[in-house]
Amino acid sequence: MPTSIDDKAWGRVLAALEPSVTRPNYITWLKPTRLVEARDGLVVVAVPNPYAKNWIEKNILKDIRKYLAAEVGPVEQVSLVIAEKEDKRPWGELPLLQNTDEYSATAVPVIENTDAEPGERQFNNHYTFENFIVGNNNRLAFAASQVVAEKPGEAYNPLFLYGGVGLGKTHLMQAIGNEIATRYPKKKIIYTSCEIFTGEFIEALQNKTINAFKRKYRSTDVFLIDDIQFLVNKEGTQEEFFHTFNILHQANRQIVITSDRTPKEITRLEDRLTSRLGWGMVADIQAPNIETRTAILQAKAKEKGMEISHEVLDYVASAITSNVRELEGSLVKLIGTAQSEKAEITKEYAKKVLKDLASSHISNKKVTTKQLLKAVAQHFNLEVSDLLGKKRLQEVVYPRHLVMYLLHKNLNHSFPQIGDELHKDHTTIMHGVRKIEEQLKTNQEIEADLRAIEEVLG
Ligand code: ADP
Ligand code: MG
Repeated sequence: MPTSIDDKAWGRVLAALEPSVTRPNYITWLKPTRLVEARDGLVVVAVPNPYAKNWIEKNILKDIRKYLAAEVGPVEQVSLVIAEKEDKRPWGELPLLQNTDEYSATAVPVIENTDAEPGERQFNNHYTFENFIVGNNNRLAFAASQVVAEKPGEAYNPLFLYGGVGLGKTHLMQAIGNEIATRYPKKKIIYTSCEIFTGEFIEALQNKTINAFKRKYRSTDVFLIDDIQFLVNKEGTQEEFFHTFNILHQANRQIVITSDRTPKEITRLEDRLTSRLGWGMVADIQAPNIETRTAILQAKAKEKGMEISHEVLDYVASAITSNVRELEGSLVKLIGTAQSEKAEITKEYAKKVLKDLASSHISNKKVTTKQLLKAVAQHFNLEVSDLLGKKRLQEVVYPRHLVMYLLHKNLNHSFPQIGDELHKDHTTIMHGVRKIEEQLKTNQEIEADLRAIEEVLG
Protein backbone atom coordinates (compact mmCIF):
# COMPACT_ATOMS: atom_id res chain seq x y z
CA MET A 1 0.00 0.00 0.00
CA PRO A 2 1.37 3.45 -0.83
CA THR A 3 2.26 5.30 2.32
CA SER A 4 2.48 8.89 1.26
CA ILE A 5 0.94 11.27 -1.22
CA ASP A 6 2.16 14.51 -2.62
CA ASP A 7 0.67 17.91 -3.34
CA LYS A 8 -0.38 16.81 -6.79
CA ALA A 9 -2.44 14.01 -5.35
CA TRP A 10 -4.07 16.50 -2.99
CA GLY A 11 -4.79 18.65 -6.02
CA ARG A 12 -6.59 15.68 -7.57
CA VAL A 13 -8.62 15.18 -4.41
CA LEU A 14 -9.65 18.85 -4.50
CA ALA A 15 -10.52 18.59 -8.18
CA ALA A 16 -12.73 15.61 -7.41
CA LEU A 17 -14.48 17.52 -4.62
CA GLU A 18 -15.00 20.68 -6.59
CA PRO A 19 -18.11 19.69 -8.59
CA SER A 20 -20.02 18.71 -5.46
CA VAL A 21 -19.83 22.11 -3.74
CA THR A 22 -20.75 25.61 -4.83
CA ARG A 23 -18.07 27.75 -6.34
CA PRO A 24 -17.93 30.25 -3.43
CA ASN A 25 -17.71 27.43 -0.93
CA TYR A 26 -14.97 25.81 -2.91
CA ILE A 27 -12.95 28.99 -3.18
CA THR A 28 -13.48 30.03 0.40
CA TRP A 29 -13.04 26.77 2.24
CA LEU A 30 -11.40 24.13 0.10
CA LYS A 31 -9.04 25.84 -2.25
CA PRO A 32 -6.79 27.31 0.45
CA THR A 33 -6.21 23.92 2.07
CA ARG A 34 -2.84 22.19 1.92
CA LEU A 35 -1.63 18.70 2.57
CA VAL A 36 0.75 18.56 5.51
CA GLU A 37 1.35 14.89 5.94
CA ALA A 38 0.06 11.51 4.77
CA ARG A 39 1.50 8.39 6.31
CA ASP A 40 0.22 5.00 7.36
CA GLY A 41 -3.41 5.88 6.90
CA LEU A 42 -3.10 9.11 8.80
CA VAL A 43 -3.63 12.27 6.77
CA VAL A 44 -3.10 15.81 8.07
CA VAL A 45 -4.54 18.71 6.14
CA ALA A 46 -3.92 22.37 6.97
CA VAL A 47 -6.87 24.72 6.75
CA PRO A 48 -6.74 28.49 7.01
CA ASN A 49 -9.02 29.08 9.98
CA PRO A 50 -11.55 27.56 12.38
CA TYR A 51 -14.45 28.35 10.07
CA ALA A 52 -12.89 26.38 7.26
CA LYS A 53 -12.25 23.52 9.66
CA ASN A 54 -15.80 23.58 10.87
CA TRP A 55 -17.27 23.80 7.39
CA ILE A 56 -15.13 20.99 6.01
CA GLU A 57 -15.85 18.72 8.95
CA LYS A 58 -19.55 19.29 8.68
CA ASN A 59 -19.90 19.06 4.95
CA ILE A 60 -17.26 17.19 3.15
CA LEU A 61 -14.97 15.13 5.35
CA LYS A 62 -16.56 11.87 4.21
CA ASP A 63 -15.92 12.70 0.58
CA ILE A 64 -12.37 13.75 1.34
CA ARG A 65 -11.77 10.35 2.90
CA LYS A 66 -13.29 8.63 -0.10
CA TYR A 67 -11.18 10.45 -2.69
CA LEU A 68 -8.06 10.17 -0.57
CA ALA A 69 -8.58 6.44 -0.41
CA ALA A 70 -8.57 6.36 -4.19
CA GLU A 71 -5.14 7.99 -4.09
CA VAL A 72 -3.46 6.25 -1.18
CA GLY A 73 -5.53 3.27 -0.19
CA PRO A 74 -7.35 2.98 3.14
CA VAL A 75 -7.37 6.12 5.22
CA GLU A 76 -7.87 5.71 8.93
CA GLN A 77 -7.94 9.25 10.02
CA VAL A 78 -8.05 12.71 8.50
CA SER A 79 -7.02 15.51 10.83
CA LEU A 80 -7.61 19.12 10.00
CA VAL A 81 -5.18 21.53 11.58
CA ILE A 82 -5.42 25.27 11.54
CA ALA A 83 -2.38 26.79 9.91
CA GLU A 84 -0.40 29.52 11.55
CA LYS A 85 -0.48 32.85 9.84
CA GLU A 86 3.29 33.07 9.80
CA ASP A 87 3.47 29.99 7.64
CA LYS A 88 4.99 31.20 4.43
CA ARG A 89 4.35 28.16 2.29
CA PRO A 90 2.31 28.72 -0.85
CA TRP A 91 -1.43 28.61 -0.49
CA GLY A 92 -2.57 28.80 -4.01
CA GLU A 93 -4.18 31.97 -5.14
CA LEU A 94 -6.13 32.89 -2.08
CA PRO A 95 -4.73 34.49 0.99
CA LEU A 96 -5.19 33.25 4.51
CA LEU A 97 -8.24 34.15 6.43
CA GLN A 98 -7.24 34.96 9.91
CA ASN A 99 -9.79 35.62 12.58
CA THR A 100 -9.29 32.78 14.99
CA ASP A 101 -11.20 34.02 17.98
CA GLU A 102 -14.86 34.56 17.29
CA TYR A 103 -15.42 36.73 20.29
CA SER A 104 -12.32 38.83 20.40
CA ALA A 105 -12.75 42.55 20.52
CA THR A 106 -9.22 43.79 20.19
CA ALA A 107 -7.94 47.27 19.58
CA VAL A 108 -9.16 48.90 16.42
CA PRO A 109 -6.62 50.46 14.08
CA VAL A 110 -7.11 54.14 13.53
CA ILE A 111 -7.29 55.16 9.92
CA GLU A 112 -5.53 58.26 8.86
CA ASN A 113 -7.46 60.36 6.46
CA THR A 114 -4.46 61.77 4.72
CA ASP A 115 -5.56 62.72 1.26
CA ALA A 116 -9.12 61.54 1.28
CA GLU A 117 -11.93 63.87 0.48
CA PRO A 118 -14.62 64.27 3.12
CA GLY A 119 -16.92 61.31 2.99
CA GLU A 120 -14.19 59.15 1.56
CA ARG A 121 -12.34 56.55 3.53
CA GLN A 122 -14.12 57.74 6.61
CA PHE A 123 -15.13 54.53 8.14
CA ASN A 124 -16.61 53.97 11.48
CA ASN A 125 -13.68 52.73 13.53
CA HIS A 126 -15.98 50.38 15.32
CA TYR A 127 -16.97 48.53 12.16
CA THR A 128 -14.12 46.05 11.99
CA PHE A 129 -13.83 42.32 11.45
CA GLU A 130 -12.66 41.93 15.05
CA ASN A 131 -15.88 43.46 16.33
CA PHE A 132 -18.06 41.32 14.12
CA ILE A 133 -19.52 38.24 15.73
CA VAL A 134 -19.62 35.28 13.41
CA GLY A 135 -22.45 32.80 13.51
CA ASN A 136 -24.03 30.42 11.04
CA ASN A 137 -26.17 33.29 9.80
CA ASN A 138 -23.26 35.30 8.41
CA ARG A 139 -20.28 32.97 8.15
CA LEU A 140 -19.96 32.96 4.39
CA ALA A 141 -20.50 36.71 4.06
CA PHE A 142 -17.87 37.27 6.74
CA ALA A 143 -15.31 34.96 5.17
CA ALA A 144 -15.87 36.39 1.71
CA SER A 145 -15.48 39.93 3.06
CA GLN A 146 -12.18 39.01 4.66
CA VAL A 147 -10.91 37.50 1.44
CA VAL A 148 -11.86 40.64 -0.46
CA ALA A 149 -10.19 42.87 2.12
CA GLU A 150 -6.98 40.89 1.93
CA LYS A 151 -6.69 40.80 -1.85
CA PRO A 152 -9.00 43.44 -3.27
CA GLY A 153 -9.90 42.92 -6.89
CA GLU A 154 -8.53 39.40 -7.01
CA ALA A 155 -10.97 36.96 -5.53
CA TYR A 156 -14.63 37.89 -5.79
CA ASN A 157 -15.63 40.80 -7.89
CA PRO A 158 -18.13 42.15 -7.23
CA LEU A 159 -18.85 40.94 -3.74
CA PHE A 160 -22.58 41.27 -3.25
CA LEU A 161 -23.83 41.11 0.35
CA TYR A 162 -27.52 40.93 0.97
CA GLY A 163 -29.74 40.61 4.01
CA GLY A 164 -32.48 42.34 6.00
CA VAL A 165 -32.06 45.62 7.85
CA GLY A 166 -29.82 45.78 10.86
CA LEU A 167 -28.07 42.48 10.18
CA GLY A 168 -24.57 43.80 9.63
CA LYS A 169 -24.23 44.60 5.92
CA THR A 170 -22.89 48.09 6.47
CA HIS A 171 -20.70 46.82 9.29
CA LEU A 172 -19.06 44.22 7.03
CA MET A 173 -18.72 46.65 4.16
CA GLN A 174 -17.00 49.21 6.36
CA ALA A 175 -14.84 46.50 7.88
CA ILE A 176 -13.63 45.76 4.37
CA GLY A 177 -12.88 49.46 3.93
CA ASN A 178 -11.10 49.69 7.27
CA GLU A 179 -9.01 46.63 6.55
CA ILE A 180 -8.03 47.69 3.04
CA ALA A 181 -7.15 51.18 4.25
CA THR A 182 -4.84 49.64 6.85
CA ARG A 183 -3.26 47.07 4.57
CA TYR A 184 -3.01 49.19 1.47
CA PRO A 185 -2.75 52.83 2.58
CA LYS A 186 -2.18 53.98 -1.00
CA LYS A 187 -5.37 52.55 -2.40
CA LYS A 188 -8.16 54.98 -3.04
CA ILE A 189 -11.35 53.77 -1.44
CA ILE A 190 -14.79 55.20 -1.88
CA TYR A 191 -17.55 54.25 0.50
CA THR A 192 -20.90 55.64 -0.42
CA SER A 193 -24.53 54.79 -0.13
CA CYS A 194 -26.68 54.50 -3.18
CA GLU A 195 -28.65 57.51 -2.01
CA ILE A 196 -25.55 59.66 -1.71
CA PHE A 197 -24.31 58.43 -5.09
CA THR A 198 -27.65 59.38 -6.61
CA GLY A 199 -27.69 62.75 -4.85
CA GLU A 200 -24.17 63.58 -6.02
CA PHE A 201 -25.00 62.50 -9.53
CA ILE A 202 -28.02 64.79 -9.68
CA GLU A 203 -26.02 67.59 -8.12
CA ALA A 204 -23.28 67.09 -10.71
CA LEU A 205 -25.81 67.26 -13.51
CA GLN A 206 -27.27 70.46 -12.13
CA ASN A 207 -23.92 72.10 -11.52
CA LYS A 208 -22.42 70.82 -14.76
CA THR A 209 -19.65 69.04 -12.86
CA ILE A 210 -20.42 65.64 -14.28
CA ASN A 211 -16.87 65.12 -15.51
CA ALA A 212 -15.46 65.59 -12.04
CA PHE A 213 -18.09 63.20 -10.73
CA LYS A 214 -17.13 60.58 -13.28
CA ARG A 215 -13.44 61.05 -12.63
CA LYS A 216 -13.94 60.60 -8.94
CA TYR A 217 -15.88 57.37 -9.15
CA ARG A 218 -14.07 55.88 -12.10
CA SER A 219 -10.62 56.34 -10.62
CA THR A 220 -11.15 54.58 -7.33
CA ASP A 221 -9.37 51.33 -6.47
CA VAL A 222 -12.12 50.12 -4.21
CA PHE A 223 -15.77 51.01 -4.62
CA LEU A 224 -18.05 50.22 -1.71
CA ILE A 225 -21.67 51.04 -2.41
CA ASP A 226 -24.27 50.49 0.26
CA ASP A 227 -27.99 49.79 -0.21
CA ILE A 228 -28.10 49.37 -3.97
CA GLN A 229 -31.82 48.62 -3.85
CA PHE A 230 -32.34 52.39 -3.93
CA LEU A 231 -31.31 52.38 -7.58
CA VAL A 232 -34.74 51.13 -8.49
CA ASN A 233 -36.65 53.66 -10.59
CA LYS A 234 -33.63 55.87 -11.07
CA GLU A 235 -32.83 55.29 -14.68
CA GLY A 236 -30.24 57.99 -15.18
CA THR A 237 -28.34 56.97 -12.09
CA GLN A 238 -28.57 53.30 -13.07
CA GLU A 239 -26.97 54.12 -16.38
CA GLU A 240 -24.14 56.01 -14.69
CA PHE A 241 -23.67 53.27 -12.15
CA PHE A 242 -23.58 50.70 -14.95
CA HIS A 243 -20.72 52.50 -16.69
CA THR A 244 -18.85 53.03 -13.46
CA PHE A 245 -19.26 49.36 -12.68
CA ASN A 246 -17.96 48.24 -16.06
CA ILE A 247 -14.95 50.50 -16.05
CA LEU A 248 -13.93 49.53 -12.54
CA HIS A 249 -14.60 45.86 -13.10
CA GLN A 250 -12.57 45.72 -16.28
CA ALA A 251 -9.66 47.31 -14.47
CA ASN A 252 -9.93 44.71 -11.69
CA ARG A 253 -10.90 47.30 -9.14
CA GLN A 254 -12.75 45.81 -6.21
CA ILE A 255 -16.48 46.46 -6.06
CA VAL A 256 -18.56 45.62 -3.01
CA ILE A 257 -22.31 46.05 -3.04
CA THR A 258 -24.94 45.61 -0.35
CA SER A 259 -28.65 45.29 -0.71
CA ASP A 260 -31.64 44.16 1.27
CA ARG A 261 -32.52 41.84 -1.62
CA THR A 262 -30.73 39.51 -4.04
CA PRO A 263 -29.80 40.95 -7.43
CA LYS A 264 -32.71 39.08 -9.02
CA GLU A 265 -35.16 40.35 -6.46
CA ILE A 266 -34.31 43.96 -7.14
CA THR A 267 -36.97 44.15 -9.77
CA ARG A 268 -37.21 47.00 -12.17
CA LEU A 269 -33.45 47.09 -12.36
CA GLU A 270 -32.17 46.77 -15.88
CA ASP A 271 -31.39 43.18 -16.81
CA ARG A 272 -27.86 43.89 -17.86
CA LEU A 273 -27.23 45.44 -14.45
CA THR A 274 -28.88 42.58 -12.59
CA SER A 275 -26.69 40.03 -14.30
CA ARG A 276 -23.52 41.97 -13.59
CA LEU A 277 -24.36 42.28 -9.91
CA GLY A 278 -24.38 38.50 -9.73
CA TRP A 279 -21.07 38.03 -11.54
CA GLY A 280 -18.86 37.57 -8.51
CA MET A 281 -19.86 36.20 -5.16
CA VAL A 282 -23.32 36.64 -3.73
CA ALA A 283 -23.44 36.02 0.03
CA ASP A 284 -26.43 36.40 2.28
CA ILE A 285 -26.76 37.37 5.91
CA GLN A 286 -29.63 35.86 7.82
CA ALA A 287 -31.06 36.85 11.19
CA PRO A 288 -28.88 35.49 14.00
CA ASN A 289 -30.10 32.62 16.13
CA ILE A 290 -30.37 32.84 19.90
CA GLU A 291 -26.79 31.66 20.54
CA THR A 292 -25.35 34.23 18.18
CA ARG A 293 -27.59 36.94 19.62
CA THR A 294 -26.30 36.10 23.09
CA ALA A 295 -22.71 36.14 21.84
CA ILE A 296 -23.29 39.55 20.26
CA LEU A 297 -24.71 40.93 23.50
CA GLN A 298 -21.79 39.52 25.45
CA ALA A 299 -19.31 41.17 23.14
CA LYS A 300 -21.15 44.49 23.22
CA ALA A 301 -21.41 44.47 27.02
CA LYS A 302 -17.71 43.72 27.25
CA GLU A 303 -16.90 46.55 24.85
CA LYS A 304 -18.81 48.90 27.08
CA GLY A 305 -16.96 47.55 30.10
CA MET A 306 -20.18 46.30 31.68
CA GLU A 307 -20.59 43.14 33.69
CA ILE A 308 -24.04 41.85 32.95
CA SER A 309 -25.22 38.47 34.14
CA HIS A 310 -25.83 35.63 31.74
CA GLU A 311 -29.42 35.48 32.86
CA VAL A 312 -30.02 39.05 31.75
CA LEU A 313 -28.17 38.65 28.46
CA ASP A 314 -30.09 35.47 27.72
CA TYR A 315 -33.31 37.26 28.48
CA VAL A 316 -32.53 40.20 26.19
CA ALA A 317 -31.40 37.82 23.43
CA SER A 318 -34.64 35.90 23.68
CA ALA A 319 -36.80 39.03 23.76
CA ILE A 320 -35.26 40.92 20.85
CA THR A 321 -35.36 38.74 17.78
CA SER A 322 -35.74 41.21 14.94
CA ASN A 323 -32.19 42.26 14.16
CA VAL A 324 -28.80 43.17 15.57
CA ARG A 325 -29.41 46.90 15.51
CA GLU A 326 -32.45 46.53 17.77
CA LEU A 327 -30.54 44.13 19.95
CA GLU A 328 -27.71 46.59 20.41
CA GLY A 329 -30.12 49.47 20.92
CA SER A 330 -31.90 47.57 23.67
CA LEU A 331 -28.66 46.87 25.48
CA VAL A 332 -27.58 50.51 25.26
CA LYS A 333 -30.95 51.58 26.56
CA LEU A 334 -30.81 49.08 29.39
CA ILE A 335 -27.35 50.16 30.50
CA GLY A 336 -28.21 53.85 30.15
CA THR A 337 -31.43 53.60 32.11
CA ALA A 338 -29.83 51.53 34.86
CA GLN A 339 -27.03 54.05 35.21
CA SER A 340 -29.31 57.04 35.43
CA GLU A 341 -31.65 55.29 37.86
CA LYS A 342 -28.70 53.77 39.73
CA ALA A 343 -30.43 50.43 39.48
CA GLU A 344 -28.95 46.97 39.43
CA ILE A 345 -29.53 45.18 36.13
CA THR A 346 -31.56 42.13 37.04
CA LYS A 347 -33.76 40.11 34.73
CA GLU A 348 -36.85 41.79 36.20
CA TYR A 349 -35.37 45.21 35.65
CA ALA A 350 -34.45 44.32 32.06
CA LYS A 351 -38.00 43.15 31.45
CA LYS A 352 -39.42 46.43 32.63
CA VAL A 353 -37.00 48.61 30.64
CA LEU A 354 -37.49 46.65 27.43
CA LYS A 355 -41.24 46.85 27.77
CA ASP A 356 -41.08 50.63 28.08
CA LEU A 357 -38.71 50.73 25.15
CA ALA A 358 -41.05 48.76 22.91
CA SER A 359 -43.94 51.05 23.61
CA SER A 360 -41.97 54.26 23.14
CA HIS A 361 -40.27 53.28 19.92
CA ILE A 362 -40.74 56.09 17.49
CA SER A 363 -41.06 53.98 14.38
CA ASN A 364 -43.82 51.94 16.05
CA LYS A 365 -45.91 55.05 16.38
CA LYS A 366 -47.52 57.09 13.75
CA VAL A 367 -45.47 60.17 14.45
CA THR A 368 -46.14 63.08 12.13
CA THR A 369 -43.57 65.56 10.92
CA LYS A 370 -45.30 68.23 12.96
CA GLN A 371 -45.03 66.19 16.14
CA LEU A 372 -41.41 65.48 15.45
CA LEU A 373 -40.64 69.16 14.90
CA LYS A 374 -42.40 70.00 18.14
CA ALA A 375 -40.49 67.37 20.09
CA VAL A 376 -37.12 68.53 18.76
CA ALA A 377 -38.01 72.17 19.42
CA GLN A 378 -39.10 71.33 22.94
CA HIS A 379 -35.92 69.37 23.66
CA PHE A 380 -33.73 72.29 22.62
CA ASN A 381 -35.96 75.06 24.01
CA LEU A 382 -36.63 76.42 20.56
CA GLU A 383 -39.70 77.32 18.54
CA VAL A 384 -40.77 75.20 15.58
CA SER A 385 -40.34 78.32 13.45
CA ASP A 386 -36.63 78.37 14.40
CA LEU A 387 -36.28 74.89 12.97
CA LEU A 388 -38.00 75.86 9.74
CA GLY A 389 -36.25 79.23 9.45
CA LYS A 390 -33.11 80.09 7.59
CA LYS A 391 -30.90 81.49 10.35
CA ARG A 392 -27.58 79.71 10.39
CA LEU A 393 -26.83 79.89 14.10
CA GLN A 394 -25.21 76.80 15.56
CA GLU A 395 -28.02 76.50 18.15
CA VAL A 396 -30.50 75.88 15.37
CA VAL A 397 -28.35 74.22 12.74
CA TYR A 398 -27.68 71.12 14.79
CA PRO A 399 -31.34 70.62 15.85
CA ARG A 400 -32.35 71.09 12.22
CA HIS A 401 -29.97 68.36 11.17
CA LEU A 402 -31.43 66.13 13.85
CA VAL A 403 -34.90 66.71 12.45
CA MET A 404 -33.68 65.68 9.00
CA TYR A 405 -31.96 62.64 10.42
CA LEU A 406 -34.99 61.48 12.41
CA LEU A 407 -37.36 62.05 9.51
CA HIS A 408 -35.11 60.04 7.25
CA LYS A 409 -33.95 57.25 9.52
CA ASN A 410 -36.88 56.75 11.82
CA LEU A 411 -39.86 57.81 9.78
CA ASN A 412 -38.41 56.66 6.46
CA HIS A 413 -39.13 59.86 4.58
CA SER A 414 -37.09 60.24 1.39
CA PHE A 415 -34.70 63.18 0.87
CA PRO A 416 -36.98 64.95 -1.63
CA GLN A 417 -39.98 64.41 0.66
CA ILE A 418 -38.15 65.94 3.63
CA GLY A 419 -37.01 68.75 1.36
CA ASP A 420 -40.64 69.57 0.64
CA GLU A 421 -41.60 69.35 4.30
CA LEU A 422 -38.82 71.62 5.49
CA HIS A 423 -38.79 73.89 2.41
CA LYS A 424 -35.25 73.01 1.57
CA ASP A 425 -33.34 71.49 -1.29
CA HIS A 426 -32.97 67.70 -1.15
CA THR A 427 -29.17 67.98 -1.23
CA THR A 428 -29.29 70.14 1.89
CA ILE A 429 -31.26 67.37 3.57
CA MET A 430 -28.78 64.79 2.39
CA HIS A 431 -25.86 66.75 3.82
CA GLY A 432 -27.72 67.26 7.11
CA VAL A 433 -28.39 63.57 7.54
CA ARG A 434 -24.83 62.73 6.60
CA LYS A 435 -23.53 65.24 9.11
CA ILE A 436 -25.38 63.56 11.96
CA GLU A 437 -24.23 60.15 10.77
CA GLU A 438 -20.64 61.35 10.84
CA GLN A 439 -20.97 62.92 14.26
CA LEU A 440 -22.72 59.88 15.69
CA LYS A 441 -19.52 57.93 15.22
CA THR A 442 -17.62 59.99 17.74
CA ASN A 443 -20.06 62.04 19.74
CA GLN A 444 -22.01 60.26 22.45
CA GLU A 445 -24.16 63.29 23.21
CA ILE A 446 -25.96 62.96 19.92
CA GLU A 447 -27.13 59.49 20.84
CA ALA A 448 -28.42 60.97 24.13
CA ASP A 449 -30.26 63.75 22.28
CA LEU A 450 -31.86 61.23 19.93
CA ARG A 451 -33.07 59.09 22.80
CA ALA A 452 -34.38 62.06 24.73
CA ILE A 453 -36.36 63.19 21.68
CA GLU A 454 -37.75 59.69 21.21
CA GLU A 455 -38.83 59.80 24.83
CA VAL A 456 -40.60 63.12 24.36
CA LEU A 457 -42.48 61.54 21.47
CA GLY A 458 -43.29 58.45 23.51
P1 ADP B 1 -27.41 46.76 7.94
O1 ADP B 1 -26.46 47.58 7.15
O2 ADP B 1 -27.48 45.34 7.47
O3 ADP B 1 -28.76 47.36 8.06
P2 ADP B 1 -25.62 47.38 10.11
O4 ADP B 1 -24.35 46.92 9.52
O5 ADP B 1 -25.87 48.83 10.14
O6 ADP B 1 -26.85 46.64 9.42
O7 ADP B 1 -25.72 46.75 11.58
C1 ADP B 1 -26.54 47.30 12.59
C2 ADP B 1 -25.80 47.31 13.91
O8 ADP B 1 -25.64 45.96 14.36
C3 ADP B 1 -24.42 47.90 13.82
O9 ADP B 1 -24.17 48.63 14.98
C4 ADP B 1 -23.51 46.70 13.74
O10 ADP B 1 -22.25 46.97 14.32
C5 ADP B 1 -24.26 45.68 14.54
N1 ADP B 1 -24.04 44.30 14.07
C6 ADP B 1 -24.69 43.66 13.08
N2 ADP B 1 -24.26 42.41 12.94
C7 ADP B 1 -23.28 42.24 13.86
C8 ADP B 1 -22.45 41.14 14.23
N3 ADP B 1 -22.52 39.95 13.62
N4 ADP B 1 -21.57 41.33 15.24
C9 ADP B 1 -21.49 42.51 15.87
N5 ADP B 1 -22.25 43.57 15.59
C10 ADP B 1 -23.15 43.44 14.59
MG1 MG C 1 -26.76 49.38 6.18
